[in-house]
Amino acid sequence: MSSQLNYSLMVHGGAGALDNVKDDKTAMRYLESIRTILEHGREVMELGGSALQAVETCASLLEDDPVFNAGCGSVLNEHGKVEMDAAIMDGRDLSAGAVAAVDNIANPIQLARMVMTESEHVMLIAEGAMRFADHCEVKRVPEDYFYTPDRIEQLKQARRKGKIMLDHDDTEADSEDQKYGTIGAIAMDPYGNLAAATSTGGIVNKRLGRVGDSPIIGAGVYADNETCAVSATGYGEDFMRTVIAKTISDYIMIMGLDAEQGTQAGIEYLSRKVTGRGGVIVIDKHGNCSSGFTTKKMIHGWIQHGGETFCRF
Ligand code: ASP
Repeated sequence: MSSQLNYSLMVHGGAGALDNVKDDKTAMRYLESIRTILEHGREVMELGGSALQAVETCASLLEDDPVFNAGCGSVLNEHGKVEMDAAIMDGRDLSAGAVAAVDNIANPIQLARMVMTESEHVMLIAEGAMRFADHCEVKRVPEDYFYTPDRIEQLKQARRKGKIMLDHDDTEADSEDQKYGTIGAIAMDPYGNLAAATSTGGIVNKRLGRVGDSPIIGAGVYADNETCAVSATGYGEDFMRTVIAKTISDYIMIMGLDAEQGTQAGIEYLSRKVTGRGGVIVIDKHGNCSSGFTTKKMIHGWIQHGGETFCRF
């Protein structure tokens, strides 16, 4: 299906070797989820919704799908607990909201949006974020909502190997190119407004209290109507040190680049400075879609200028 309206939308479900995608059936499972979620985003746009609404809708649906490392599919930390991070940003006025190290919340991206709209702050963490959730009457979900058999097995393997792993890492092969299953959504609506959202369970067997790039404005997420919208996935520490999302926005602003050139410049910087592992999705202010990654693959999909839906690794 394509539209008369000029909007663009991209989502990702993580980057890496995707060693767990060993057969066509698993591959199809990921791609179908991405496609379905993009179609929901399309509907939001067709019904006159904003870029912000579209990214919140898509990110929430990605959080609800247990194959992705966010929301109910979040990976477990060193204590076998879920600690999630999420952020959302509105390119109209650079307003942003983020939460870090939260648990028992089905959709951290929605809580991040509440931080943006219902508080005077940009980021709330841990206990403070949970109290804010109670204040906003966000329902808490029980711990077993998160504990999928795959996640428990993944943590056991990480502990056996005594290492911190990334989501869907092939624990038998000692691959450096692992899968980072964070989710993200970015959009430009027909009014030219940009928005971005990123949500994650982080990395397997991570230390209690570890926060990655995903909720850090400018690292794992960024949106500015004058430049672009960006969502990142990968080894968060690399992305924080390079402030990769804002770096791409700056390249676009200062050098007058489009989405593809900005993505290339950003990925080159990430590789050159920190040998960063992961990828980004980018939509520029004209609605051009682009993606780049240093890993073997990245699960992602896009609708450019209201056109067809594409999904790929
Ligand atoms: N960027 C996330 C983090 O470091 C991980 C991921 O992308 O899967 O927390």
